[in-house]
Amino acid sequence: MAEKLVPVVCPWCSVGCRFYIVNVNGYPKKIEFDYEHDTRNHGKLCPKGVAAFQYLRHPDRLKRPLKRVGERGEGKFVEISWEEAIKEIAQKLKEIKEKYGPEALAFLGSERCSIEENYVLQKLARALGTNNIEYVCRMCQSTAVAGKGMVLGHPGLTNPFEDILKAKVIVLWGYNPAATNPVFFGQYIEKAILDNGAKLIVVDPRKTKTAKYADIHIQPYPGTDLAVALAMLNVIITEELYDKDFVAERTEGFEELAKTVEKYTPEWAEKVSGVPAELIRKAAITFATAGTAALLTNEGVNQHANGTRTVMAITEMMVLCGYFGKEGVMSGAIPGAHNGMGAGLMGIGPHELPGRFPLHAEEHKRRIEEAWGFKIPEKPGITYVEMIDAILEGKLKALYVMGTNPAKALPNLKKAEEAFKNIEFLVVQDIFLTETAKYADIVLPAAAWFEKDGTAISFERRVQRSFKAADAPGEAKPDWEILVMLAKELGFGEYFNYSDADDILREINRIIPPLAGATPERLKKNLKGCMIPCPDENTEVPRLFVQGFLTPNGKAQLIPVEYKEPGEVPDEEYPFWLTNYRLVGHFHTGTMSHRSKSLSKRWPEEYIEINENDAKRLGIKDGDLVRVETRRAALVFKAKVTPHIREGVVAAPWHWDFNYLTKDVLDEYAKMPELKTAACRISKVEG
Ligand code: SF4
Repeated sequence: MAEKLVPVVCPWCSVGCRFYIVNVNGYPKKIEFDYEHDTRNHGKLCPKGVAAFQYLRHPDRLKRPLKRVGERGEGKFVEISWEEAIKEIAQKLKEIKEKYGPEALAFLGSERCSIEENYVLQKLARALGTNNIEYVCRMCQSTAVAGKGMVLGHPGLTNPFEDILKAKVIVLWGYNPAATNPVFFGQYIEKAILDNGAKLIVVDPRKTKTAKYADIHIQPYPGTDLAVALAMLNVIITEELYDKDFVAERTEGFEELAKTVEKYTPEWAEKVSGVPAELIRKAAITFATAGTAALLTNEGVNQHANGTRTVMAITEMMVLCGYFGKEGVMSGAIPGAHNGMGAGLMGIGPHELPGRFPLHAEEHKRRIEEAWGFKIPEKPGITYVEMIDAILEGKLKALYVMGTNPAKALPNLKKAEEAFKNIEFLVVQDIFLTETAKYADIVLPAAAWFEKDGTAISFERRVQRSFKAADAPGEAKPDWEILVMLAKELGFGEYFNYSDADDILREINRIIPPLAGATPERLKKNLKGCMIPCPDENTEVPRLFVQGFLTPNGKAQLIPVEYKEPGEVPDEEYPFWLTNYRLVGHFHTGTMSHRSKSLSKRWPEEYIEINENDAKRLGIKDGDLVRVETRRAALVFKAKVTPHIREGVVAAPWHWDFNYLTKDVLDEYAKMPELKTAACRISKVEG
């Protein structure tokens, strides 16, 4: 029996934990902890990490290409050969391009796939003549990218994980790391609080496991975080708690910001958010006078139609207090998936080139065109949710989906389903027959993360290599290999001449300057990887903004922000605030975690949390079935009656059917949909 230990990066969240898969003759037997090496997780794993190999040999794995024979969504397919599948896809894409133009085609990449695979996908889209290329970051981090980009010039985490151990105050805003990034929470945040005495401020409508450690817990109505942030800016400025030297030397726009937030007093914010004015004042003073601070945000801030404004206001709090460019501080927004940051850097965006340069950055565009040997289309593409409207309007005819599940992740799912029923041509390559794949014309079986070599970038900006630790089942292939087959069939063979992931990474090293030094050789030799930007093989940048910000003039931009409501607020007809959250044991739409034995056993079903006083008023008891209705749809949940959620708010985990309830109104800057809150009504299901 040939048994070997293969080093891998965890395929779930973006902490970048490392461990081994025990491979027995190509079969993934179990995971093994890595205590010997200098890993970011210090040998520790969360329940998902421990279960990370379980879905690999699930009987539902796709093993051969499939062609639809039933109605769209019915899930009836016949097996076909790879040759037939690739020929049919290439022919159909060419036909649609010829008949309607390249803008009738669109591609979705994936934060679950490697940077190499996302790079190849966006290059293929551009070879076909379209910038309609997107990934799920649009519905997770796009507001953080836009907001931090405008204020600081870069959206990435500013400091290495260790720096949080020296922070005097930690603010976790719309972020529950005890559930979403448990190892980062246990190995860094918990130690900063319990061992080093950091104060903790949590902003979250729910009393989460993270909030149980808080010195100050602020519970705004979902999506009114902007009111709290503006009021904290008001206190920091009117009470002159800001760092005057830092503001004078390293920022611009202070006067206008100060004038704008004058009216946003804590008393005003109390009326909007339901948070007592005195608590807001106390939080602002605690934050601004700490000396060093970490302020981390997540989906509770990002996934709103006012998300970009909220990110800007929160980031400006950090700027005003001069909390940048030194040890003991940290600012960042945390991508949900293990390669969320990496996929984005590859240019998987309708307005972005590889390296996240804007599409109109002529110098970079010319440089990339020269290296590729073909022109990049001029016209910007459309964003994720806009693609659904474009399908329904008959403008978008073909969608190619790699490793993602929009038929469960999009808001207002009934509308999305209508679009998938009516699209002319849909291809899905994935490891399971997802909700989206059931609508597809052709389904291609992909290798899972552990079944191929590939590179990922964690939320610490750390580039790490993961290695093939198991054989893929049946005829499943790595995503990059499938894309190269298709590119060749489309006649683009000369541009896609790769024989392995290393070939692609070497091209990325040449095309994307901040990744120039993250070569295959360096990443294989040093499993801890390197922090980007790494412009050459000996360099990495652990701390951002030490000298200046990455804005054009090097100064942080204190752009004034006005209040805007979230995408939907309660009224007489729909009186409750509805929100969602993530469970420690599940991941996104559940494609992998629902098929992991230990996770689905311990976290088997969805439910809805309701405050005990609201429940009493409505005659609802713990375990009763309740109907939750929004203007889009109604779902039935089991009630979980609890004191740990504020009155007037109900909350459910989103890994099941939650998105039937959400609204597809968009943030004006980033086109993020309002995924995090909706107005709803609740009634007990009788009988
Ligand atoms: S914390 Fe994240 S990266 Fe680490 S084991 Fe858990 S899911 Fe994996």
